[in-house]
Amino acid sequence: MKRTPALFIGHGSPMNAIEDNAFSREWEALGKRLGRPKAILSVSAHWFTQGTRIADGATNPMVYDMYGFPDELYRIVYPAPGAPEIARRVAGLIHRSTEFDSSWGLDHGTWSVLRRMYPTADIPVFQLSVDHNATPHEHMAIGRELASLRDEGVLIFGSGNVVHNLGRINWGMDGGYDWADEFDGYIKRNVLARDFDRVADYQQAGPSARLAFPMLDHFAPLLYVLGAADAADSVQVLTDARMKGSLSMTSYLFQPAD
Ligand code: ZN
Repeated sequence: MKRTPALFIGHGSPMNAIEDNAFSREWEALGKRLGRPKAILSVSAHWFTQGTRIADGATNPMVYDMYGFPDELYRIVYPAPGAPEIARRVAGLIHRSTEFDSSWGLDHGTWSVLRRMYPTADIPVFQLSVDHNATPHEHMAIGRELASLRDEGVLIFGSGNVVHNLGRINWGMDGGYDWADEFDGYIKRNVLARDFDRVADYQQAGPSARLAFPMLDHFAPLLYVLGAADAADSVQVLTDARMKGSLSMTSYLFQPAD
């Protein structure tokens, strides 16, 4: 069986769940292009916890973790089943201590993208949280421990943003600030060069690294995907864009080279 891809998506605004734009169209095309995985393990920026949690419910409660958006967003239901059997095995793959937690379900980091990629919501999905206390290298190590799931058809899906600084957002700006372009460029160069340690050591990007994000929540999901990637994968950059000054939508797809 061909290994299932590992995918990082810059999810940006929750409005991408309902708007017809370049990002939502890319996600729709991507779902068709990748085909159906057996299950999806989603590492979402929006489940940022003390310690690593694994959602092991048979069903996924909807989490509407965004404020001040149109009602339409809060009416979205993405009833994908959970994957409790795989979730329990994930606890055995991760060396750090983990906890099961079926209370969270799917937050908008997951459903805003998956409802475009897989609108029928019939592929089992479960989330893995981002540990507030883990270092970048520790996040990447967890990703490495998850890599074998790709051999059995599980899509490793990270949802965040490489640049995510809401305190500096400029709603009227189309592209990114120079420092956002610079930081996103540093990450892209090192992802494409397969120098993932330099991605984890993101401070080496220089002053732009201090502005790129105040916390690791949105950056860390990329590190899980890089951990789950290997030398036999090709890498493709998707939706290479900065917007509103301090957000990067740049996304990465790893899949076995043909
Ligand atoms: Zn987000």
